[in-house]
Amino acid sequence: MTDGFDIGARAKARCDALGLAPYSEIEGQLTRRFLTPAHAAALEALAGWMAEAGMSVRRDTAANLIGRYEGEAPAAKALIIGSHIDSVRNGGRYDGPLGIMLGIDVVEALNLAGRRLPFAIEVVAFGDEEGSRFPASMSCSRAIAGVLDVSALEMRDADGVSVAEALAAFGGDPSGIASAARRPEDVLAFLEAHIEQGPVLEAESLALGVVTAIAAQKRLMVRIEGQAGHAGTTPMGLRKDPGPAAAEAMLALERICRAGADGLVGTVGRLTALPGAFNVIPGAVEFSMDIRAETSATRDAAVEAITTEIHAIAAARGLSATVTLMQALAESPCDPSLMALLDASLADLGLPVRRLPSGAGHDAMVMAALCPTTMLFIRCEGGISHNPAEAVTEADCALAARAMLTFIDKLERRERA
Ligand SMILES: [Zn+2]
Repeated sequence: MTDGFDIGARAKARCDALGLAPYSEIEGQLTRRFLTPAHAAALEALAGWMAEAGMSVRRDTAANLIGRYEGEAPAAKALIIGSHIDSVRNGGRYDGPLGIMLGIDVVEALNLAGRRLPFAIEVVAFGDEEGSRFPASMSCSRAIAGVLDVSALEMRDADGVSVAEALAAFGGDPSGIASAARRPEDVLAFLEAHIEQGPVLEAESLALGVVTAIAAQKRLMVRIEGQAGHAGTTPMGLRKDPGPAAAEAMLALERICRAGADGLVGTVGRLTALPGAFNVIPGAVEFSMDIRAETSATRDAAVEAITTEIHAIAAARGLSATVTLMQALAESPCDPSLMALLDASLADLGLPVRRLPSGAGHDAMVMAALCPTTMLFIRCEGGISHNPAEAVTEADCALAARAMLTFIDKLERRERA
């Protein structure tokens, strides 16, 4: 099949084109936060490309940009293809935008081939996945899925500007944000293509992977209490030092997660010794634990195991420990029938079928409240993301576009059956 343009490669080139000012807030790097002039400039470019691809283009009240390619019948249910256009500070060019650009390429290929389907295709650029401006994330996909808590509109950025104020200035409509919600009967499915942001596909020499679920996550804070003392005068045998206990706890977490299944991972990302001086035995040590797995059951078993061990480690050293749950997010499983279609699409292209969970959160987890979802992962160099060094190949982007077109063929066959 010829598309009349370089499918996939063009998607990558467009991500590159949006990697600099005015599509970035900062010259010489990519920082594109929600509701900034850089966001507006990116939407303008996207709107032009969506129109060229044969879509009608609109913005909803939550600042989502939506291109629609009609099906055979007007007002048909839509397959929504989308991802986010915002970035972290000094981020990469493909985390988010690639999924949008691939959607536009896929629609343009269908349009050039004169094909209409029993469903419409909509390409959506969500404005706020990363939460890099306001202390909330995924508010745009939440608005579409109809699960946005309106209190999110009152959150303020570092300059004191609220989401509602910024949204109004952007041309959105904070008071009418509920109208951005889509009706489940109007949506067939959601497909998000995204760079893996991890090293698994590259390590196995695979271009693409099919996401099984977005991981369940728990965030916990641990505090181990001992007794502060003089680092020079307190003999080793007479100390109540929580530091080595914290070290033992970290090793226990590593051991438990290494032995686990279902993509179980555990991280201590923050560690503080109090009061925190060279010459003071700490009186307490606090550390964070981020524990994720494909299923809540696996995650919870790991949380229980490490909690038990931490108490035992502390008790054996005459210390006390508290483990406090800060946040729990359930897993968001992808739809099994859509996963099977994506598997078959990869197989049709002669690619090995590799399923893997997503350890990172994505808009797809929010969209799951609205419709069946599926995600395609694309290999990225070194697994590096949220970093200007983020890189993908044209060949992998082209394969991703082919896989998405094949997926659409299979969905068409299913819908006509
Ligand atoms: Zn992303």
